[in-house]
Formats: sequence, structure tokens, C-alpha cells
Amino acid sequence: MTDPKRLIIPAKITESKSFEGGRREALSNHCLVCDAEGKLSRCSACRVGRYCSREHQLQDRERHKLGCRDIKVLRAQLQVDDHDLRNTTDPTTSANAFDLDVGRFWEFEMTRQYICTRFMVADLCRLAGTLDGTVEAIEHMQDMLRLCDSDHLDLRYAIPPMMLQLDRDQECYNFIKWWQTRHIDDNGQEHEMYHPDVCSRPANPLESIAWLDHDNVDVEHLGAMLLLKLKLLIDVIALKRARKVIEHRLDVELWTYVDRHVVRSKLSTEWSSKSYKELTAVQQRLEQHAIFIGGLLSKITKHFPAALLDPDRYLKISVETKTRGSIEETVFLLHSSYGAWWNHEGVLELLQNALFLAAVKSKAESKTWLPAVEQMMAGQAISNVPFLKVKNINKKMWQCLPEAVDTAFDLNQLPTFPMLRNWEK
Ligand SMILES: [Zn+2]
Ligand SMILES: [Zn+2]
Repeated sequence: MTDPKRLIIPAKITESKSFEGGRREALSNHCLVCDAEGKLSRCSACRVGRYCSREHQLQDRERHKLGCRDIKVLRAQLQVDDHDLRNTTDPTTSANAFDLDVGRFWEFEMTRQYICTRFMVADLCRLAGTLDGTVEAIEHMQDMLRLCDSDHLDLRYAIPPMMLQLDRDQECYNFIKWWQTRHIDDNGQEHEMYHPDVCSRPANPLESIAWLDHDNVDVEHLGAMLLLKLKLLIDVIALKRARKVIEHRLDVELWTYVDRHVVRSKLSTEWSSKSYKELTAVQQRLEQHAIFIGGLLSKITKHFPAALLDPDRYLKISVETKTRGSIEETVFLLHSSYGAWWNHEGVLELLQNALFLAAVKSKAESKTWLPAVEQMMAGQAISNVPFLKVKNINKKMWQCLPEAVDTAFDLNQLPTFPMLRNWEK
């Protein structure tokens, strides 16, 4: 049997180009060929792809068939494993493992076999990258965490970026908080077992996140939490922009209406009808949180966020194991979360701006960046971003985040900073 752990690194994402041109919004149902929405039919074999017409389904057949067949075959295998497990006479496994061995599925041969098969189904669904696939992958993985308390397959890292892609932000926040604050005593026992219900508790996205600051904090959870905070920050920028334009022209009831349409996260609707001044306070709070998380990340690894801004250099690296702070760890992180970062319009641009400001301020090797900066300003993608090489840039950039937010009037473009103008003279 294929070692399921190997599959957590998808072979399919080898460069960020596969995302370019893709949607930068929450995942939704659309035709895999022409992107049409509305009336679509689902591929009956894999149930993770949709098409607007028979014609488009046929047209996509060559590309789609391999992944489609794998999902179908593995789902059938999962049914067999499920049936065998429920009807076992094996003395090491209880016949009602789903009741009696909850949390301990990794410990017995048959239950482990079941988990491995289910993992492969879930991961293929995740890799499909569609709304149907992502919803199903989260469902499988959450239930597997309930069954397998030890989480040997690192499912807890794959789930948060998918939740963010679906705008299930509150669940994502709660999920991370639960894992980072669950109590494990010295014997590794006596902690609350995972149950998907922990995700539905109310969340206050502005509460203190000091609980992330501990020695064993997971890089993957820091990354997802950072993305969540930046997502909310972008919503607040959008609210402030809208407010600037409409505050003196529309009634408060109409602000609320507009607000609902300029934000992406449900959590941000909390702030609709707040005054401009109050929004600025929220913005500052979110900036502090992002700086705090960025600082924690840069203590652990120097490869973040360089990898997010120059992904192709990292995605080529093949990795099997990882150690804390290693480049391999960042490659794992990129594989499980780059899609989510890409899906959130504005966040990568914001990081890029902060990085650029930090580089300009450090005044090192500025001559060599100029061509790259010009390319970026012309909206072209560049690889080997030169100022990523500035010493300690991964630490310095976080302090520049508030300034990057202030200058990010158009988040799709690198703004011309006054400093840059002086520097060009
Ligand atoms: Zn179509
Ligand atoms: Zn299919």
C-alpha cells in the first residue's frame, strides 16, 4: 500500500502558474472548462467536478480522467474497508470500533487501514481544488481527527487553509485555537478529544492571540492564522474606502447594505456601520496581530514569507521529511496552503508591499532590485525576487505592514512610494 504520508505532498502543484488566472474569491461551483456558473451537472464518477454541458465534460475528459478514476476506485475501497471493519472477526479489533475505539483508530491494523484509505480519498478531494472536493475533504478529515486522536497524518494542517478558501473563517479560527490550546499533560493524556463541534463555538476575531506564543506552536497554524488576520485587514480597508466615499452621502442603513457587499468574511460584517474612527481602531488591532504572528513565524523560519512571494523556487523542491525551521517545512506549508493565499485577493500584494518597504528602508543593494521593482509595477510576475535576499528581511518586513496598508490603495499594483521616487533620482 502507498504510504499515505507521502501523499500529503501533492505531485500536481509544481508551480504557482497553475493558480494564475484562477479565481481570487471563495470557492464556488463553476464549469471546469469555461468557468460558467448557474446550472451545472456534476461528474457522477468522482462527484468533485462540474460542467455546464456534456460537450465541455467530453472536452475535459483527457485531463480529468486520471484523478476522477482514482477517487472513484478509492471510494469503493473505502466502502469495502468500512464494511470489513464493521463485520470483523479479527480478535485485535472490536466489531464496533466506530463506537468503542473512537480516538484510537491508529492503534489497530484494521482501523489504521481504514484511516489510510480514507485519507487518500480525502486528499484527492482536496487536490481537486473544487468546492465539492474541498467540502468533502474537510468533512472526511474532521471525522478522521475524531477517530484518530494522534493525528499521525497531519490532517490538522490541511484543514485550516481549506476552511479559509470556503470563507468558513470562524471555524478556522476555532479549529486553530483548539489545537494550540488543548491541554496535554506530561503523560500525553487527559486532554479533550477532538470533535468537529469545537469549531462552531462563537469566536471573537479581535481577542488576544497570546496563546499562539508557545514553544511548540505549529508553523502551519501560524501561517493560516496570519492569512485569516490579513483577510480581515483587507476587509477593513475595503470598509474604510467605502465609508470615505459614502459617509456623507448615504444614510446609516444604506452603509450597512454597502458594507455587506464590500467585505468577504462573515466575521467582518461585525464591523458594518462602525464609524471611520472605530474602523481604524479595528485595523490597528489586526495589524498588531499580523505583526505578532509574523514575528513568531520569523523566529522559527527564515523561509516565510519568501516562499509565498517566490513560490516557484520552492515548489520545485521535492521533500519527504521536514524539521523545524528547514526549507522542507516551508515547502510542505506552501503545498498545503498556497491555493488559499492565492484565493485571497490582496493578501500577497500586501505582503509584497511590506517586504518592498522593508527592503527600501534597509538601503542594501538597491541597484539590483530596480529592474524587478519596475517589472512588479508594470504588473508582471517576477521570480527570484531580489530583495528577498536582504539580510533579515523576513523579520524587518512586519514592522512595515501598517505603512504597506496605508499605501495599498490599489492592492493589485505596487504603489509608487515617495521614497522610491527619491531613490530613483
Ligand atoms: Zn462549460
Ligand atoms: Zn469525475
